[in-house]
Amino acid sequence: MTVRHPHVPPFIPQVGADVAAEEERLVRTRRDLHAHPELGFEEVRTSAIVRERLAELGIPYLAGVAGTGVVGLIEGRAAPPGGNGASREPRVRPTLLLRADMDALPLQEENTDPFASRVPGKMHACGHDGHTAILLSTAAVLLRRIDRLAGNVKLVFQPAEEDPGGAQPMIEAGVLREPHVDAAIGLHLWTQLPAGTVGLSSGPLMASADEFTIEIRGRGGHAAAPHTCIDPIVAAAHVITALQTIVSRSVDPLESAVVTVARVEAGGSAYNIIPEKATLRGTARAFSPAVRAAYPERIERVVRGVCQALGAEHAFEWKAYYPPVINDPAITSVVARESRRLLGEDRVFEDIRSMGAEDMAFYLREVPGCFFFFGAANFAKDAAYPHHNPRFRIDEDVLAPAVELLARCAESALGMLAAAGAERG
Ligand SMILES: [Zn+2]
Ligand SMILES: [Zn+2]
Repeated sequence: MTVRHPHVPPFIPQVGADVAAEEERLVRTRRDLHAHPELGFEEVRTSAIVRERLAELGIPYLAGVAGTGVVGLIEGRAAPPGGNGASREPRVRPTLLLRADMDALPLQEENTDPFASRVPGKMHACGHDGHTAILLSTAAVLLRRIDRLAGNVKLVFQPAEEDPGGAQPMIEAGVLREPHVDAAIGLHLWTQLPAGTVGLSSGPLMASADEFTIEIRGRGGHAAAPHTCIDPIVAAAHVITALQTIVSRSVDPLESAVVTVARVEAGGSAYNIIPEKATLRGTARAFSPAVRAAYPERIERVVRGVCQALGAEHAFEWKAYYPPVINDPAITSVVARESRRLLGEDRVFEDIRSMGAEDMAFYLREVPGCFFFFGAANFAKDAAYPHHNPRFRIDEDVLAPAVELLARCAESALGMLAAAGAERG
């Protein structure tokens, strides 16, 4: 993904008094989660912390959703739009879903902060500790602003974003129903952007991510007698080269696409043996569902043709993981507007996209919404390492502004949804 650190003036966080009052707790929670990372579907301690805070706030919640997931509900109390509310039929209030992921990565942390991971081989190297802490504090702040909320806020604490994906199981468990979810918003702390900026995009924001495995079977033998063998390594080399034409020759040049062979496995027992088989593994990515849908057939056709030409046999396996993250224009414009109001015009980038993937995509496939990046990089604080790096760190000064922004987005999006509902009648 593009590493982009545009020059912006120094960041001076400006948040409401209610957010400022929450900041100490917010940072403490994030550090506690950071010190105790848990992998996907093992977020037992994390989910207990979420439940305790929701209970303390008096927010009703469901626990054990898709394993370790927790779902809380805040019912707003703003007067319904359209005036003379008393004489009108009570209508269904809109519900906005706010999502945070809770899982860490199987990685040994190399930072030496006092709150560095205490669990060998596990680390919050993607910032999900921050996401969970931000959503808990946002819940606290939204309660104080409950008279301004024109609908419900569903707080979704989701397991296993990294692997194997917790969003789909949460949807299957009914997280988009009762009450019915009208829109969804989520953020990702982002060290590809300077602290206190927002990056987003209307339409596709992040790519689909799927995996392919290609097995090429030849006939092994003596390296000095290749004419008596079918060399799977030469076939694999041709397949890898021919696969480059998928993006360059068969995808519309105006579309974004990636086909990467990331693992090659063949032979290995000796320098003078042609092996029986070679295995290739890789990933294919796209912003467009149509480009994504065409991949398996296109890739296998290339593999089949090359293998046939060289006398080898093949097996092809396709594993579909995450669809592209596609933002809704209306909800995205609410987020962009609130971001500009909070952070300033020059701190909001509306053309940021990434070929990385995120399982927020599953919610956004079902309901309109917006996923956005909240810049968390700060070179002066040695916090600009990429995500999934053993030295990944964030500038903690962005946590409180992220809460302020999320709270304002919730209020504003619910206002918009309620007004649209009132207009429809
Ligand atoms: Zn990640
Ligand atoms: Zn992440």
